[in-house]
Formats: sequence, structure tokens, C-alpha cells
Amino acid sequence: MALLEVAELDVNYGPLAAVRGLSLELEESQVAVILGTNGAGKTTTLNAISGAVRARSGTVSFDGRNVTNSAPWKISRSGLGHVPEGRRIVGPLTVEENLLVGAYNVRSRGRRSELIDDVFDTFPMLAEKRDELGGLLSGGQQQMLALGRALMAEPRALLMDEPSMGLAPIMVQHVMDAVQTIAARGIAVLMVEQNATAAFRVATEVYLIEHGEVILHGPVDQVQNSELVRRSFLGI
Ligand code: ATP
Repeated sequence: MALLEVAELDVNYGPLAAVRGLSLELEESQVAVILGTNGAGKTTTLNAISGAVRARSGTVSFDGRNVTNSAPWKISRSGLGHVPEGRRIVGPLTVEENLLVGAYNVRSRGRRSELIDDVFDTFPMLAEKRDELGGLLSGGQQQMLALGRALMAEPRALLMDEPSMGLAPIMVQHVMDAVQTIAARGIAVLMVEQNATAAFRVATEVYLIEHGEVILHGPVDQVQNSELVRRSFLGI
């Protein structure tokens, strides 16, 4: 059984069917990308998986347990983290304090400092900024901080919503390198991206969605040769 299994997911906003019969699977260490144009239902899919919006029908299983429509904090505590769109860094808190916010489930103080040290080892860029205010970081640094904060909860899988959005190309590269680093440690990543070129560097699986439905799914090396993906997402 895959670590994360989504089967026949439907999400509605009133009369609008935002996600329709969507199924996907994510294995340990795997990086999968959900690709799609604006309004395709990408963010809604992640939000339904993490419990932020209600699924109308279908199931979300994580680590063998049915977590469909469970409270977001319960889902997060079971090891499924969510790095939302827009990063949600707490501006008036320092980098270190923002990281501690991510460790709210970690009871022992000793363990928190161990986790922080680990995040700083993984992302030296954050260590350098440890005492700076989150609100003063660049967009790319904030994205790294959002990722670091999610790691503080010791997730087994992470949902990431458009990590490259609004970032300079060099920072996009750093963020994708960070994704690769955490996947190499066994953490599975399901990310939503519009920047297919960047995502394909680290992803192994692609789900292309349109009007809330998966219209194409397969390994990156296959999907990237499809006419549709080349034309609409790779600009070829
Ligand atoms: P984007 O890249 O623009 O974020 P997306 O692929 O993530 O797009 P969603 O944000 O999931 O798409 O939106 C899917 C559909 O649901 C769109 O038609 C959107 O207008 C609609 N929608 C999203 N959130 C809500 C909401 N809270 N209430 C009503 N409709 C919504």
C-alpha cells in the first residue's frame, strides 16, 4: 500500500465541482507533481488531502489509515505536513521562532533544539538568518523557512503548494534542491507547480489536471514528451 492514497476524490464549492473523481498515490521518498493551469483544482486537491476543505466523496488514506475529512491538526500529527501557498511566515517572529511554531507537537524541549539544529544543517541559508525577522526575508528565503517549519513536525510526507511562485530563478533552483534533499531522507513530496521545467528536475511522477480531473498521469520521462505538456507547460 502506498504511503498516501487518494481515491475518487470529489470536492465542491456550492454548485461548482472543483475536483472530480481524482485518484493519486504517493510512495515513500517519491516526489510527485500536480500540474495544471489556473483554477484547475490543484490547491483544492491539496487542501482536501490535508483536511483544510471537506471532501464531498472519495477517500484519503495516509499510512494505511482513512483520514478523509479528519481535522487538519490530526492529519498533520499523523505525519502529513502541508506547506501552503503564500508561505504564511509570521513576520514579527525571528527565523528560529518561526521554526519553533512548526514544532508545536514536539513536547520535549531537547528534541526541539535537535530538530532546529537539523533544519539549520540542512538549510545553512536559514542558519545564517536565524535571528532575523521572518518578514524581512526574501521570498525564496521565506519559502525555505516554510519548508523548514514543516520539517520541524517530523513529517513522513509533505504537500507543497507552488513552492516556486514569485521566486527568482536561482531561488527556484535552491528550493527544488531542498525538495530533493528531503526526499532523499525518505520524506514523500506531493507538490503543485506551474513551473514544470523546475518541477521535472526533481519529480518522478506527474499528474496533469484540468477542470478538477486527472487527464494525464505517468512518470516524468514519459509525460514530458507529451504534446500537451510540451506545448502548455514547457513552452516547446
Ligand atoms: P491556482 O493555480 O489559480 O491556485 P488551482 O488549480 O489551485 O488554481 P483551485 O484554487 O483549486 O485551482 O480552484 C479550483 C476551482 O475552484 C476554481 O474554479 C476556483 O475559482 C474555485 N474555488 C477555489 N476556492 C474556492 C472557494 N473558497 N470558494 C468557491 N470557489 C473556489
